[in-house]
Amino acid sequence: MSPSINVKYTESYLMSMEKDKTAGQKLEEKLMVKPKNLGEIDGSMLKEAQKFCEGYKEFLGNKTEREVVDYALPILQKNGYKEYELGKKYAPGEKVYLNNRGKNLIMVTVGKKSPAEGLRIAVAHIDSPRLDFKPSPMYEDTELAYFKTHYYGGIKKYQWTTIPLSLHGVVSLADGTSVKVRIGEDPEDPVLCITDLLPHLARDQMQKPAPKIVEGEQLNVLIGCWPYKDEKVSSKVKLNIMNLLAEKYSITEKDFLSAELCAVPAFKPTDMGLDRSMVGGYGQDDSVCAYAEFMAELKTKKPEYTTVTVFIDKEETGSDGVTGMRSFMFKDFIEDFVSAYGAEVRHVLRRSMCLSCDVNAAVDPNWPEVFEKKNCSFLNYGPVISKYTGSGGKYSTNDASAETMGYLRRILEEAKVPWQVGELGKIDAGGGGTIASEISIHNIDTVDMGVPLLSMHSPFEVTAKADTYMLYKAVYAFFNSKLVKP
Ligand code: MN
Ligand code: MN
Repeated sequence: MSPSINVKYTESYLMSMEKDKTAGQKLEEKLMVKPKNLGEIDGSMLKEAQKFCEGYKEFLGNKTEREVVDYALPILQKNGYKEYELGKKYAPGEKVYLNNRGKNLIMVTVGKKSPAEGLRIAVAHIDSPRLDFKPSPMYEDTELAYFKTHYYGGIKKYQWTTIPLSLHGVVSLADGTSVKVRIGEDPEDPVLCITDLLPHLARDQMQKPAPKIVEGEQLNVLIGCWPYKDEKVSSKVKLNIMNLLAEKYSITEKDFLSAELCAVPAFKPTDMGLDRSMVGGYGQDDSVCAYAEFMAELKTKKPEYTTVTVFIDKEETGSDGVTGMRSFMFKDFIEDFVSAYGAEVRHVLRRSMCLSCDVNAAVDPNWPEVFEKKNCSFLNYGPVISKYTGSGGKYSTNDASAETMGYLRRILEEAKVPWQVGELGKIDAGGGGTIASEISIHNIDTVDMGVPLLSMHSPFEVTAKADTYMLYKAVYAFFNSKLVKP
């Protein structure tokens, strides 16, 4: 399926191998696709991938879209990125960024050709499924204090009980200032959790269908049990917690209304597997693609075409809102940017191409019944290219054209980056989408490409390090290719 990288064999050895091949073997090689594990293509790749993923694990420690943006900004500035100035015409090699409300980010490296010639865009989302706090979250019951949550994105609710949770977010105070909250990530910090019923008393619970084992209104985060000592007060435990928050963050209960707080798994991103070939952690959908894109964007110096790297918000809830992909924010920025070069945005978009970088479901041998192995993706087989996503009869999908797929394929083969095809499971097993159709609506040719993932949307997702490393190489190749788009 794809050429090998860093071939270690000597030429004479290869020639003797070639001589020993039967006519059928040669024909097979020429005509058939034989996907190969990255470890079989190049055994030394794991070492490089492990090195690459040290940075990834640090990146993954940022667990909300705001934290990713806060983390990225100083790195951009250190790498010569300047804040975008409206109306300014930038020279080839110049780098700019636009920070949209601290929740989504656009990064640009100007190409040798005028941006009017088209852009090479890569988008990944930096929001992940989580438990958002309700606007009036705090209450006390049975002398225990809780936060009420409303889950964000598609989760199996039962997976979110009895694991350590951390608290993240921002509160806008009465005086107009904001305070950032992050509790449960430092080793000295306390953590929070949602309790579950003991098996001894769960006879009825265990008979329920999975969506009802733990229901939305039971996703209440336990935050304290010690009362404030005053006979005249009714909710003593709640008051005691509120007092702690007031002392540390100057927050009163009213401030929750003007806050974005959430609970996420407190696990640290970590090496997975005895061979340390994988990364385990929360939020890899889609931080794994965001990191690969980010590294490719930073490393791109003077590309042929102008590159645009987008970190987008709100993908997990349908891309609505001013920081989501359906916002006009993206097109408005491109219009502002290219008008300095005398170009019409609609002409630029038609000449552009976008990689919608998002994870896909890797075949999980524990559940073979939902995967069609000829067309689903596998861990360690490289970045997954998905011609289409959606569900049922290809509903709600950007279905990339043959020519667009061909263009991407030529780029990857030229750069010797392995890749695999991937459909999201069996037809009618379920389905899901990405932001690809929110991009192609702007008349931009778009293809989905990402990292295969196990346990998607769970509190502890799993990726293979070599796949992440190869996605970085793939995006870098896309950004730096001189191939003319069809
Ligand atoms: Mn997702
Ligand atoms: Mn995703």
